[in-house]
Amino acid sequence: MSIRTRLLLVNLGLLAMAFTGISWFAGAQITAGLRVDFEGRLMSEIRLIAQGVAPAAAAFARDESDDAALAAAFAPYEAQMGGTLRLYFTGRSLEQYAGLNTACNPLPHPEPPEIEAAIAGQPIVSQRIAEDGVVHLFTAASVLDDGGVIGLLQLSVPTSALQALTAQRWGVLVGGMVALTLVAALVVAWLARQLLRSLRQLQESAARFAQGDLKHRIVSPTNDEIGAVAHAFNTMAERIQSMLEAQHTFASNTSHEFRTPLTTIQLRTEALKRSPVIMQDTAARKYLDEIDAEIARLAGMVQGLTLLARLDADRLELGRDEVDIVRFASALRQQMFAQAQEKGVILQLDTPSEPVHIQVNLAHLTLVFRNLLDNAIKYTSGGGTVRWSLVCEGDTIVHTIADTGIGIAPEHLPHVFDRFYRADRARLRDVPGSGLGLSIAASILHVYGGSIEVQSPGINQGTTVMVRWRFQRPAQNAGSLAANPD
Ligand code: ATP
Ligand code: MG
Repeated sequence: MSIRTRLLLVNLGLLAMAFTGISWFAGAQITAGLRVDFEGRLMSEIRLIAQGVAPAAAAFARDESDDAALAAAFAPYEAQMGGTLRLYFTGRSLEQYAGLNTACNPLPHPEPPEIEAAIAGQPIVSQRIAEDGVVHLFTAASVLDDGGVIGLLQLSVPTSALQALTAQRWGVLVGGMVALTLVAALVVAWLARQLLRSLRQLQESAARFAQGDLKHRIVSPTNDEIGAVAHAFNTMAERIQSMLEAQHTFASNTSHEFRTPLTTIQLRTEALKRSPVIMQDTAARKYLDEIDAEIARLAGMVQGLTLLARLDADRLELGRDEVDIVRFASALRQQMFAQAQEKGVILQLDTPSEPVHIQVNLAHLTLVFRNLLDNAIKYTSGGGTVRWSLVCEGDTIVHTIADTGIGIAPEHLPHVFDRFYRADRARLRDVPGSGLGLSIAASILHVYGGSIEVQSPGINQGTTVMVRWRFQRPAQNAGSLAANPD
């Protein structure tokens, strides 16, 4: 999981916890506050309603009106409060109005707490299950007529009204918190992005450096801890680059210095071979031939190392020769034909029917494919086949050099491009080679933007080398180029 994701998750987790805590606390306060407000409102309203319905209640008690008139007087208040009003007549008042009205409610026994509180003149709100089985809030107030108490007015409101109000407030609160969390998440994401930008820059630079871009440095590092790492990276890159340059210079100088004595030794053996004494001495001639062969091998290695040193130091000049790769392949096949024939290996070539031009130094191109064909022939026993085919894929020419030779074991495959690496040396004891050819080919191809890949199913199952090289397709050449077996 990336640092950015982790940072985001941790921050979001903390924010969610903090906001949930705040919401819960605020919600509890709001709920309690709402109940206190609601009850306060019920108590003040019942007093006003008691005053409002007093004339109607007095008329009813005096038998001057009926139930319907009383209900009509209650109706607007009941609608306003969303509850039910009930009028109880006190004993004293009942006495006063005895016999005048048959529909009056006597006080219930025992008296409910809100009625008791209203009689005591200290109204309260009580909560209990009403006759309809629903939880209600009850409050009551005295109804006065001519300064005397004629009854008690009870108001009951289902708690659902309070619950709806509470739910509405909770909804607003939770909605607000969710919106706030989202905003905070966006801010955190933006901050994480800002913070990690320099880290990403550092990572990209390290990757570029690892891919061989030794000149790459981090430009204007930030003024923080990551900036300090960037400075350290730049210093390290500087040192590695100068160390590698020193190494390349050393390799280049050494190979160069080897050349002169080698040429001298070669000239001396030539001279010795021509001497009449040596000409008659077969043993001496044999030794001189062996020395010559070793000198040639050494000279080849020195040449290879010099080229690698130039490639490493980016000092190889890209060629601008216009080469028709089809003609080049035919010519090279001719050159390698004798070597293949000597080994009893069949060398085949498939090329497109039309010319394909690439811009390259002919010597570099020859070095690459001579080594690949040399390998294919060298590592294939008599009776085997080497097939070199060229196919155009878009603006890339794909070379496939497939042989039926000794193959490469899977554990050796990843190393065949390493310098001086020879897979399974014991098996290759009699096959000449220094293990530089593929690394030189790969370095040259890299410089020209090409690529090389070696595949082998395993020992004695042959080897296939694929080289991809981009070319400039001329406008009139844009049609398909059919493979043309040679
Ligand atoms: P040099 O090319 O310097 O004369 P070399 O041929 O041994 O020596 P490379 O061309 O670099 O070196 O190849 C490296 C190794 O890869 C070889 O030693 C061989 O083990 C293996 N290899 C390369 N091509 C083939 C092939 N066609 N078949 C089997 N093994 C191969
Ligand atoms: Mg080779």
